[in-house]
Amino acid sequence: MEEIRPLKLYFIHSLAAGHMIPLCDIGTLFVSRGHHVTIISTPSNALTLRKSIPSHPFLRFHTVQFPSQEVGLPDGIENISSVTDADQLVKIFNATNMLQTPIQNFVEENPPDCIVADFLFPWVHDLAKNLNIPRLVFNGFSLFTVCALHSSNSVLSPTLPHPITLNASPPKELAEFLDKYLEMELRSYGLIVNNFAELDGEEYIRYYEKTTGHKAWHLGPASLIPRTPEEKAERGMKSVVSMHECVSWLDSKAENSVVYICFGSVCHFPDKQLYEIACGIEASGHGFIWVVPEKKGKEESEEEKVKWMPEGFEERNAEKGMVIRGWAPQLVILNHRAVGAFLSHCGWNSTVEAVSGGVPMITWPVHGEQFYNEKLISEVRGIGVEVGAAEWNGIGFGERQMLVCRESIERGVRRIMDGGDEAQEVRRRSQEFGEKAREAVGEGGSSHNNLTALIHDLTRLRDAKLLSAK
Ligand code: UDP
Repeated sequence: MEEIRPLKLYFIHSLAAGHMIPLCDIGTLFVSRGHHVTIISTPSNALTLRKSIPSHPFLRFHTVQFPSQEVGLPDGIENISSVTDADQLVKIFNATNMLQTPIQNFVEENPPDCIVADFLFPWVHDLAKNLNIPRLVFNGFSLFTVCALHSSNSVLSPTLPHPITLNASPPKELAEFLDKYLEMELRSYGLIVNNFAELDGEEYIRYYEKTTGHKAWHLGPASLIPRTPEEKAERGMKSVVSMHECVSWLDSKAENSVVYICFGSVCHFPDKQLYEIACGIEASGHGFIWVVPEKKGKEESEEEKVKWMPEGFEERNAEKGMVIRGWAPQLVILNHRAVGAFLSHCGWNSTVEAVSGGVPMITWPVHGEQFYNEKLISEVRGIGVEVGAAEWNGIGFGERQMLVCRESIERGVRRIMDGGDEAQEVRRRSQEFGEKAREAVGEGGSSHNNLTALIHDLTRLRDAKLLSAK
């Protein structure tokens, strides 16, 4: 058989856990096929990422200095998931812009065969063009959502394959922010999607490719790459609870008896909202793992604690519930047989991780593109039910006007956890999609085949360039 010379690929991730985790996972997919991947990162992010992806001689990290002093951030805060206020958030965005020069210098000195970059680095377009290499872009969204975003800004026809009405209107600044990045994305060689074709559906893939003339490559779910249990537990950040503690607690619970509650890496609910969650889940009577922000530390005073958690809540629910203050080993939890539903903000990673585990969702979108994801989950694929959230915030630390009340939370949880016809049907479909997700990444599955085809395309481009240079 003809020996294929390995491709040299550079991956550039943005400074958000929800983007860098799946992008780096996708990098390892290329490595598993014998290609050479360099992840361009910053020191603290590289440290975290190294722990969650399998090490391999073909996988390297190149770190550029993070401009902590220039932007005024404390050492080690290099990611929007680690910021503690709105001011720091702005500083992370400023730092993102400042990474252009060092990254560009590195790439120009050692050009690869292809660059895969987060869509928040639109300047990579010119860099790749000048080096005459393909640029693939990654935005962390499902293709369904990309279609919906384009159709709302009129780049695509407004008639999506399914008529959807969102439960809230997007903030104007979000549309303005996304539009320019999405437009630049269409000028790339292709879009890499952390999803599998069956979940977005052929109808959306056709719709996207036909209306934009742009190619989308479904290579996911990225969370399903083979990993040791330790790598699974440390994916994204160091967990505040040990995997063994979580697993042995879950082992003691009946199948599908626990609701997992987590709102991703950048959601900051006010105390009043956390209080409603506590009341809602307690009233439902079901078991739970509830992930709350780290600052809700055990050492806080009783006076502070009762603002977000009813008095005696943990004592009353000691048997039934577990409150995790900080980062949870989400992949491990979602793949445990005791977990029967996921009350989630519908971040795309969380969604595709729940789907891969066959876990039905109770959808509670908060910001970003999550209100679109909710519709794919509830109305389009029928793998979850809506809790009734109707306020679309920007990422940030601002007050929310509308709370989701305890009654709605209890109702949402009961719709899945109490059983009944609707719950059974949602669970059946979720499990079906879970099987499809695992098939997609296996030998001969849709994502596996897409990766083969993409590698073939990139190799052809590289070889044609070499030939023309002779
Ligand atoms: N995550 C985790 N533990 C936590 C919170 C989040 O492992 O306590 C991971 C989760 O598995 C997912 C990512 O962080 O891979 C969050 O990404 P998502 O797109 O769901 O939401 P975002 O954080 O971008 O809002």
